[in-house]
Parts: sequence; structure tokens; C-alpha cells
Amino acid sequence: MSWLTQAAKGIKAITSQKSDIPDNLWRKCPQCSEVLYHRELERNLWVCGSCGHHLSFTTEKYIELLCDEGSWQETHAGIVSLDPLEFRDSKRYKDRIKATRQKTGKEDAVICGRATIGLIPVSMSVMDFSFMGGSMGSVVGEKIARALLDSLQYREAAIILSQSGGARMQESLLSLMQMAKTSAVLARLRKEGIPFISILTNPTTGGVTASYATLGDVNVAEPGALIGFAGPRVIKQTIGGDLPEGFQSSEFLVKHGMVDLIVERKDLKDTLVRTLQWFVEGRDVSVRRPPRG
Ligand SMILES: [Zn+2]
Repeated sequence: MSWLTQAAKGIKAITSQKSDIPDNLWRKCPQCSEVLYHRELERNLWVCGSCGHHLSFTTEKYIELLCDEGSWQETHAGIVSLDPLEFRDSKRYKDRIKATRQKTGKEDAVICGRATIGLIPVSMSVMDFSFMGGSMGSVVGEKIARALLDSLQYREAAIILSQSGGARMQESLLSLMQMAKTSAVLARLRKEGIPFISILTNPTTGGVTASYATLGDVNVAEPGALIGFAGPRVIKQTIGGDLPEGFQSSEFLVKHGMVDLIVERKDLKDTLVRTLQWFVEGRDVSVRRPPRG
């Protein structure tokens, strides 16, 4: 066998080995382009070790990260979208929903539950960007409103974690009505002195930003999250002027009072525990407290 054939065989062996490596072993950081090892990313809660960019984190991972182990109990499952408008874009909405449900194994773009965080009982809703861009239609609005009503009923703090492209266009006006519905329940919570903490992650935009996501008693954002209402191009056209640098980021918004705190993912749980404790301990607010001892 000539050296050339041997070398060719060697190359073939290497390339066939390479094809055995799964594609998802490495990820490129969308901000600094550093190539990141999957296992390392898992350890770092999907935060780039090189530049600190917060990559997207699934709904399930957020629940595991924030809630006390074994305390999460899902509520209001089984509510699914109908198609009263018989909407059709490139596909029928009914078919789009069906395909998305099959692909993701999820019912819609939010999951609600009751849990404890640092032993403090909460009613919590976590949005899911993997389901039609985390868009808010009637199901998302209804489930969040019901989870907030649980906070009223059981007198426990409310938490909503947002990751959303905004209202779901396929449900048109029905989507927009969810802004009013969720905001109305939040007004009742405020009247009753029940705390609401909103967590904004990348991205939180449109009707979600314009309703519950920015109505928290405390609005907490992850670093570098895109948070805004309309896209920069639309605003630029409307106001006919240039926009300040980075004006739709957590860092810009914390300077201008729309966000209260920027918290890295690894510190989110501790921050929630401290904030909840501040609300429920030693204050004249009638909410459920953690058990003594
Ligand atoms: Zn990076």
C-alpha cells in the first residue's frame, strides 16, 4: 500500500469519526463568536464563559433553577388555542398550532404552577420562547390571569418570567385583549398588597412588555436582554430621528427606571429569595409566610 493510499485511509477514518460527533456538542456564542462546549455551557447555566452573554434557557431549566427542589406543581394545564377567527397566513392557524404542539410537545407558550422559592409559596408563570416565539395569545393570557388569581386566592406572591416576541398576530384583537385582562388582575393584586415580581429575559417585546412584564413591584432583567415594544426600525421611522445606542437593552432600561435590577442567571434564585423575604417578613402585608423552624 502506498503512503498516499494509507494517508487517504487515515483521512477517511478521521472524517468518518468526526461525523459521529453530534452537532449539538459545540455552540457558537452569538455575541463574541467563541466556540463553547455543550457540557461547559450546561454547567454555566447557558452563559458564555468568555463574554457573559446569556444564551436562551428553556422553561424547564428556569423552573428547576428557581423553584425549591420538588416543589413545582403545574396548574391550569390542558387549555389550548381554538381558532375563532379562522386565521390564515402562509398556513392555517389551526394547522400551525397543531404542528407546533407536535414539534415541541407543549400546549402553548406558557407553563404555570405553584411552588416554593426559599420556602416561600409562590404562584408562577414561565413563558416559553420555543412555542411560536413565546407569543401571547388567548391561552397565554388566560393561564397567566388564572395563575395571578391563584395568588389572590392563596395569598401568595406572583412571579412571571417572560421570554416573548409579543402578542400573537394570528389571534389579532383577542391577543391584544390579554394585555388588559392580565393587567386588570395585577391591579387587584396591588390593591390587596400581594407582591408581584416580573423577570424579563431575552427577548421580551411587544404586548408582553407593554403589559404584565413591566408591571412588577420589582422588575428584574437578565443582562443584555432585548426589552422593548416595537422594533428599532419602526420607531426610527415613526419619530424620524436616530435612536440612542443600545436603547432596548436591560442596561439602558435600568438607567431609565423601567427595570429595577439586572441580575445574572446564576444569582436569580438568591435575588428572588431575598426579594420575597423582604416582601413577606416583618411587613404588614397579608401573604403566606414560610413555615417557622
Ligand atoms: Zn460570548
